[in-house]
Amino acid sequence: MMVLGSGEYHRFEAAGRPFVYLVPSAAVFALDDAADAVLRALAQRGRTRDELVGELSDLFPRSELDETISELERVRAIGDVHVPDKPLPKFFPLMPFPLTTMVLNVTNQCNLSCTYCYEYSEDKIVDTENGKKPKFMTEETARESVEFMLKESGANRMAHLTFFGGETLMNFPVLQKTVAYARERAAELGKEVDFSLTTNATLLRPDVIEFLAENRIGVTISIDGPKEMQDKFRVFHNGAGSYDIVAPKIKELLRRHRSRPIGARVTLTSGVLDIKRIFRHLTEDIGFWEVGFAPVTTSPGRDYAISTGGMDTVLAQFSELADEFLEAAVANRHHGFSNVKDTLEEIHKGVSKAYPCGAGLGLMGVATDGDVALCHRFAGSDSHKMGDVRTGIDRNAQMAFLEKHHIADKTDCSTCWARPLCSGGCYHEAYTRYGETTRPNLHFCEWIRGWTDVCLRVYGELSERNPAYLAQFDHMESVAERAV
Ligand code: SF4
Ligand code: SF4
Repeated sequence: MMVLGSGEYHRFEAAGRPFVYLVPSAAVFALDDAADAVLRALAQRGRTRDELVGELSDLFPRSELDETISELERVRAIGDVHVPDKPLPKFFPLMPFPLTTMVLNVTNQCNLSCTYCYEYSEDKIVDTENGKKPKFMTEETARESVEFMLKESGANRMAHLTFFGGETLMNFPVLQKTVAYARERAAELGKEVDFSLTTNATLLRPDVIEFLAENRIGVTISIDGPKEMQDKFRVFHNGAGSYDIVAPKIKELLRRHRSRPIGARVTLTSGVLDIKRIFRHLTEDIGFWEVGFAPVTTSPGRDYAISTGGMDTVLAQFSELADEFLEAAVANRHHGFSNVKDTLEEIHKGVSKAYPCGAGLGLMGVATDGDVALCHRFAGSDSHKMGDVRTGIDRNAQMAFLEKHHIADKTDCSTCWARPLCSGGCYHEAYTRYGETTRPNLHFCEWIRGWTDVCLRVYGELSERNPAYLAQFDHMESVAERAV
């Protein structure tokens, strides 16, 4: 006799009604009263179909219960308890997988000396000072990188080129020439290139701003917040804070460069956790269109590492900002909290990740000498090399990487409901924490599940109160491909 039990799902409430996030299909499902009653009963203990219908038939017509049970079975919210869970399937992307985003490290030098920087701090993985890598990418290597990107982009019409550093603008001459070259070569091949860069804003001179605006280059500024927060860690080599230098330059950039929204990226550290105040300052006082926050990547012993209690504070404040975001979205108003928007987009698209991000797949980082690595954070590291721009992607190394990092092999994640969206988390974070890119970021699980729950709730509310808002995601390209 078949005994029904709970499948893999996460229940949450939004807009006054229950929902489930179904793990096998990564879909969100609104529950009516009958479906909710069935799931609640089976969450207590397994029952046969007849038992279930018998117990609930005082509350709902039998025909409705039958239909509901069949539907819940179909979406795998419930199932036969005697059928063992199948191991996660291990499908690999079809090869050669096209490169959608190339992150070009045009320099590994920086004019700031941010205490927590993964490139220069105690946790660095590439020796950019004494290593063999050139400090600045040459024009020739940049041109070879463009050829590499256009070739490896396969049949895609659009290629994304992101300039990164060190401090990207320390190699502005090469950056300028690369944009012109990439435009010309892409046009010859019937393709297009979308450009973006990340900068600390210290070198945003008028001619640089003019160039960025003229060329419609997407800009992300690394900044930590108001003066006392920015100056705590984001300092010049002599220890002086950078706020007074960058704030006027950013305002000038925002005034002149209006062809694309300009975003801020904030690194959260133990002493800088007043997220709402940072958000207000950056959007209202400075004028950024959007702000994204990321907890610092570090080994746990560092002074600036965020403690578990600190991550609870982050979650509480993220949740409040997410509520503000929701009210704005319901009224079709813009709200610049980009973390929630990115997750909503993934939920809406039913993203179920075999890998946490595009690194090593559609996204790769290129070091100053043209070596290709997993992503920009590994660029220059010989142990994470995946080819070079002259000979192309090393497909054997790529396949070996994909084999080793598939979610199906992360046994700790196999029972986690947040798996479709998290997939174990950032490889660089794992490497910094555990010395191994294959390890899931188990130190962040509570935080990831808490944040995913907040985003699901926002999603559920929007699906009831303003579904048209969610429809905008139908036409957007994927977050993983855009993210740096
Ligand atoms: S790392 Fe943690 S939160 Fe992420 S999928 Fe694995 S178990 Fe879940
Ligand atoms: S999430 Fe981590 S591994 Fe993935 S691209 Fe970003 S820094 Fe690299």
